[in-house]
Amino acid sequence: MELETCRMCGGDGRIGNALGGSSATCPSCHGSGRRADAGPRFHDVTKTKESHYRPAAQAPAGPKAPVTAEGAQLAGEVNAAPGLSAEAKARLIAEIMSHESTHGRCTKTFVKKLRKQTRGGG
Ligand SMILES: [Zn+2]
Repeated sequence: MELETCRMCGGDGRIGNALGGSSATCPSCHGSGRRADAGPRFHDVTKTKESHYRPAAQAPAGPKAPVTAEGAQLAGEVNAAPGLSAEAKARLIAEIMSHESTHGRCTKTFVKKLRKQTRGGG
């Protein structure tokens, strides 16, 4: 197993003072000699299949359910939809609430679009 060596101390965990001759614990690796940031820093983009979904559909810190009649009805249809995962349902309902907060109501176009998704795109 290959460990990344601390770049600051070169792996010995200490940094020497060239003038005084004393050595101090390396502030970068705290004496371990390994790079402190050698962990998994990079996100595996292949795992985020939903990248084409816009991240704006987050549930706002407000009501947990749609407030308009159309929105409530749509949410009911989403919840009753077979073949939709709980995650997908939550996302659609968040989308409804997000739309409501932007437009004040659910437009016909939006209702149509949502209904299409509850039917699984078939
Ligand atoms: Zn170090």
